[in-house]
Amino acid sequence: MKTITLRAGKERSLLRRHPWVFQGSIAKGSADAGETVRVASHDGQFLAWAAFSPSSMIRVRAWSFDEAERIDEAFFQRRLERAVALRARLGIQSDGVRLVHGEADGLPGLIVDRYGDTLSAQFLAAGTERWREVIARQLCAITGLGRLYERSDSGVRGLEGLAPRTGWLHGEGATELSITEHGWQLGLDVALGHKTGYYLDQRDNRHRFAQLVRQLGAKTVLNCYSYTGGFSVAALAGGATQVTSVDSSGPALEQARQNVRRNGFDDAACVFADADVNQYLRQQLKEGASFDAIVLDPPKFAPSAAHAERASRAYKDINRLALKLLAPGGLLLTFSCSGGIGAELFHKIVAGAGLDAGVNAVILQRLEGACDHPTTIEFPEGEYLKGLALLKL
Ligand code: SAH
Repeated sequence: MKTITLRAGKERSLLRRHPWVFQGSIAKGSADAGETVRVASHDGQFLAWAAFSPSSMIRVRAWSFDEAERIDEAFFQRRLERAVALRARLGIQSDGVRLVHGEADGLPGLIVDRYGDTLSAQFLAAGTERWREVIARQLCAITGLGRLYERSDSGVRGLEGLAPRTGWLHGEGATELSITEHGWQLGLDVALGHKTGYYLDQRDNRHRFAQLVRQLGAKTVLNCYSYTGGFSVAALAGGATQVTSVDSSGPALEQARQNVRRNGFDDAACVFADADVNQYLRQQLKEGASFDAIVLDPPKFAPSAAHAERASRAYKDINRLALKLLAPGGLLLTFSCSGGIGAELFHKIVAGAGLDAGVNAVILQRLEGACDHPTTIEFPEGEYLKGLALLKL
């Protein structure tokens, strides 16, 4: 077993069970991609068993802080069983569930979503790449499912020196599936959709949106960055009569239209606009439009804290436009999924947008990702999705 020795003082974060070690913290030692290494402090004390990643800035990702634990097939079986068992206890109102959420489940670099009878997985770091076949086999055995699609085509694999890879790892057949979320039928495609196919992290917020639309009697709804129309279906389920979905992806909008139809709503009463949201909002303002409820769920504007400033301006801009477009008494659900923008900063950005728009609003509720996307208490970077439900006065 190779040892990676840290520089003096650099043991602190592993001692606090933060699972990453950056390149600059390492004094000596090297290993192959994904190889299990013993990480030690400058004076040789055991800190963690970890996966080595020779080309990543995050050079080491911890598997275990327990010196007695062995990183073998049984280790992965224990971690995967724990992750799957946790979800079974959460009472999730859907058959679309995140089963493994990376670091939070003690499996850095592994994402696994279940869509009905199919698993969709991303192997995002050298460590999980090395154990990929073992993990895939165990996932099928633990869940009793025979189909696992691999979506290892995320850009972050490039940082690990890994090429993209997609396709069936177990089983075969159609990649078009549907899940039932809060009783709604939602179609998705594990091969062609974003990420693993769908955004499960917004499940609870889609449900909450349907409730708020109903309570507030919102009829006209603008769903910005709609993807496949999850919030649009929620709006219709909440009694909205005119729902506009805006996205820059044509295939996502086509799926959104099908999802509206699938749930028995009239797609003729809906608009599906293939457009840039910022431009669309400006155009609507120019035309004097207004909406009873608006959702803003943009992609990650700030992948890291280094991008926070530019991203802040982009968030502020769309929030300012949306607040202007809202009818008095209207509802805004606004989100950021940028790891580099904390909840407090996001709140400040939205407050600034309100000032610039000359709009008063109250916070009805703070929103976050669904509970099958947990965060460990030691790893704040895991907390990425934050949102606000605002009511315009
Ligand atoms: N709210 C969705 C998830 C949104 S993901 C849900 O509940 O499922 C973000 C979406 O923004 C993606 O579908 C992407 O295609 C879209 N997007 C990215 N940049 C955009 C832009 N400038 N204008 C419009 N849509 C954009």
